[in-house]
Amino acid sequence: MKSMKLTQKIRIFPTPEQEAVLWKLSEKCRLIYNFALAERRDAYKHGISGVNYRTQQNDLPLIKQHFPEYTWVYSKVLQYALRSLAADYESFFALRKNGHADACLPRFKGKQYFTTMVYNQSGFRIKPGKITFSHKYNDMPLEFTIPDKFSFDEKQVKQVAISSYRSQYFVSLTYELEDHPYVDNGRYQAIDLGITHIVTAVNSKGKFLMVKNQRPDKYWNPKIAEVQSRKDKCKKFSKRWKLLNKIKHKYERKRDEQTRDFQHKLSRKLVENTRANTLIVGELDVKHMAQSNKVPKPMRAGLNRATQNSGSLGRFVHFLTYKSRRVGKRTIEIDERNSTKECWVCGKLHCMPIWKRIMSCDCGNVIARDKNSCVVLMKRYLSQNAKWTGYRVFLDNLRYTAKCKTKVSPPVGS
Ligand SMILES: [Zn+2]
Repeated sequence: MKSMKLTQKIRIFPTPEQEAVLWKLSEKCRLIYNFALAERRDAYKHGISGVNYRTQQNDLPLIKQHFPEYTWVYSKVLQYALRSLAADYESFFALRKNGHADACLPRFKGKQYFTTMVYNQSGFRIKPGKITFSHKYNDMPLEFTIPDKFSFDEKQVKQVAISSYRSQYFVSLTYELEDHPYVDNGRYQAIDLGITHIVTAVNSKGKFLMVKNQRPDKYWNPKIAEVQSRKDKCKKFSKRWKLLNKIKHKYERKRDEQTRDFQHKLSRKLVENTRANTLIVGELDVKHMAQSNKVPKPMRAGLNRATQNSGSLGRFVHFLTYKSRRVGKRTIEIDERNSTKECWVCGKLHCMPIWKRIMSCDCGNVIARDKNSCVVLMKRYLSQNAKWTGYRVFLDNLRYTAKCKTKVSPPVGS
């Protein structure tokens, strides 16, 4: 049976003493990262090849000999800092290769940033309600409480990361879970993801479902902007500046938590409330969406901001994917090219700039843009996978429901 990897992020509450230890350790990881980055940049400048993760990892023992403070950090955690640098380089090269000329080289990490520490396979202990991490800075145990609702078997947990974000601390546990076997039960649900309606879905019965996006950012962003502008007027690092900074972080945290929470709840409902075992979504290319230059300039600014906020749409798909796998369903991503332009009835391609919300085709098909899009996705999935029974049933149902609404639905050539 295949298994899947899931991550659970849990907030921890270190004491001031523990917090100091965490920062000391994190600082060492940050420095190793920066040293390694400097070495790579140097090598590049002087045309030296062969500096990579392996060589840098092999240098670690020597560094520890000369600078014993690097032994404070659990050795695998230090190695992981180098690995994350390697990963940053890889993603940079991949982006460049795919034509993203604006991709940036990895940068040096500033002093104020807590570097995430990753314990891979070892260096941590999990007991009911508790998690402990190894370190050699001092005798202060790095032991944290985990709420009872999270029960983990130590053997399941493959990796634990300690991170800090806006002066809160978290552990993220990556664990493996066995898949429920998936059976195609002949029922499908196609989902179009968008900005105003986060979900427009159609099922095999031809029934539509539309869910409006909750936009906590619309409520919080003006507040954040206001605090920011008050902060800008203060002297940097003054008492007032610090207070305003704290408030700003709090607002940002609330905004992010509310967005995430909404997505968690909605994805769970979608997966649980459908009888379909197969959910179909379009493959998102958020980068492309944000750069869409077919939008007239005055409208582009707002749209860019909106799509960037919906960078979280990618996360939503991720939620759908793992939540469906957990219950023996599947979320499948398929190519959504032209799905908004193609008339689902006759297949004709229309020019559908993003502000045009209704498609009206010569063939008589008049339909909301998002609805059309999810129907196209459904048709595409079923035909590409030769699910001909499902395909026929879906179209029959769809035509039937369309007729009930007294919409003129022209016949389709098989
Ligand atoms: Zn048409």
